Amino acid sequence: EGKRWAGGPGPASVQASGEVDLARIRTRFPPEPNGYLHIGHAKSICLNFGLARDYGGVCHLRFDDTNPEKEEQEYVDAIIDAVKWLGFDWKSGNSEHLFFASSYFATMYACAEALILAGHAYVDEQSPEEMRLMRGTLTEPGKNSPFRGRPAQESLQMLQDMRAGKYADGSMALRARIDMASPNINLRDPVLYRIRHATHHRTGNDWCIYPMYAFAHPIEDALEGITHSICTLEFEDQRPFYDWTLNRLQELGLFAKPLPHQYEFARLNMSYIVTSKRKLLQLVKDGHVNGWDDPRMPTIAGLRRRGYTASALRLFCERTGVSKSNSRIDYSLLDQALREDQDPIALRSVAILDPLKLVITNFPADHVEPCHAPRNPHASEAGMREFGLSREVWIEREDFAEVPPKKYFRLFPGNSVRLKYGYVVTCTGCVKDAEGNVIEVHAEYNPDTKSGTPGSDAVKVKGNVTWISTAQAVSAEIRLYDRLFSEPFPDAGDSDFLNCLNPHSVQVVKAFLEPGTALVPGVVTQFERLGYFVVDPIDSTPNAPVFNRVTTLKDTWAA
Ligand code: ATP
Ligand code: MG
Ligand code: MG
Repeated sequence: EGKRWAGGPGPASVQASGEVDLARIRTRFPPEPNGYLHIGHAKSICLNFGLARDYGGVCHLRFDDTNPEKEEQEYVDAIIDAVKWLGFDWKSGNSEHLFFASSYFATMYACAEALILAGHAYVDEQSPEEMRLMRGTLTEPGKNSPFRGRPAQESLQMLQDMRAGKYADGSMALRARIDMASPNINLRDPVLYRIRHATHHRTGNDWCIYPMYAFAHPIEDALEGITHSICTLEFEDQRPFYDWTLNRLQELGLFAKPLPHQYEFARLNMSYIVTSKRKLLQLVKDGHVNGWDDPRMPTIAGLRRRGYTASALRLFCERTGVSKSNSRIDYSLLDQALREDQDPIALRSVAILDPLKLVITNFPADHVEPCHAPRNPHASEAGMREFGLSREVWIEREDFAEVPPKKYFRLFPGNSVRLKYGYVVTCTGCVKDAEGNVIEVHAEYNPDTKSGTPGSDAVKVKGNVTWISTAQAVSAEIRLYDRLFSEPFPDAGDSDFLNCLNPHSVQVVKAFLEPGTALVPGVVTQFERLGYFVVDPIDSTPNAPVFNRVTTLKDTWAA
């Protein structure tokens, strides 16, 4: 009599490992597989897996798959991929701490029957709408359902019939019998099971009744021996029901102490993004972005494709801290984390995004002058890169002005600048087309000023201009991203968040790259003066490279 899962976690793989007693703390990250993970989930992953790591514990990856209509295997796979990529692992010793709430459906159902028999639950035939009306409000107590007094044996039979598929969706539900006058609305006889004739991505058509999240979650935690069940602040007033469920089941001998405890922390909110799976799904479905991994998406897949590294995301999550009060984190902190992560290691290169030809008129026609630059100025062990300077080079269009604005130190007739890692050149004029557009800039170089040679700095100049020899330049497409929303709080206020989509969130340019620029997916390159970039893992090919800009070198987000 009375099946008992007491004395530790139920899943055999946990018990078999013998780790239950060793692990001081056991946490879990419990995503619902109804979408891709976003940066808020990254925060929760870092917190839960980080606590387990720091305190000699274990963290479970558990799919909270109790809601069949919205869940899919594609999302399960994407979530596994994202957690792994972030650098966390649910394996410990020989055991895999990867669980599915749906594996516990039979146990949850047995808990429901036990609660009915103990007088703690009843089947209610009110419609969902009637239940809602009877629930009362913050200032008004609820009213008892006319079915609240249903005898236990009758409720048990009805639950069994519900399970057997005899009733239609929404025709009745199993409710806890707690207190319709409780000041906490969550304790006013919450629903434990509802009828859903739906196919589940793992259990198929085995079940046509499914447990509610608030009932399922404490059972999942107790079965797995979770010590710290960490969730976001919205669940704070669910905690009494979490405890009610476990205490009743413990009194009935189904679980033993110590029982898991729920702890809450503030969810991560960030400016200029939305972090609701429903809204992210809408962006994808309605074609506002090119899929869940679009580099403008705040999904882990999107951030990864954009070029944010796993270590930068972890640094960001650590930096922003764990708090009990809601606040909004400035998006620029994420870019700052990427810069700090990559500045010491990213390889340097030159890209010219808006090319204009510069002709060095006194440079020998067929000569190629070898030039050198550090691969990374902070890491001499990374060595030097090499490229050639020739008579014609590409420069940025904005590095020339026929009539210089104030404080302009770059190329204009009569002014001298250094071609970075090359020579000092003096601008002598420009060539224009019929419409008056500058199509070529002319300059003369000073042969005594080659970078790195003795006395090369005798000629002082204020401007330093990046360039690429036209003979050596590699063509590439570069995608420059801006924020996806033009408002800092896209989902605040009454108007639809889609109204503030930024129509200019991506700009595609045909650019030139320094020869030898690394074309390795996932490896961040700093293009000098321009920012951090990565090869797009999907669209780039060796013959037609495509780069995404992760972020600029300095914060351009403010104001
Ligand atoms: P969404 O509202 O985006 O659908 P969710 O909370 O419903 O998010 P789940 O898949 O249930 O999504 O979340 C898994 C875990 O991630 C939960 O423990 C949840 O608390 C946590 N989480 C979700 N969003 C955030 C966030 N913005 N900040 C911190 N943690 C979050
Ligand atoms: Mg959820
Ligand atoms: Mg949700």
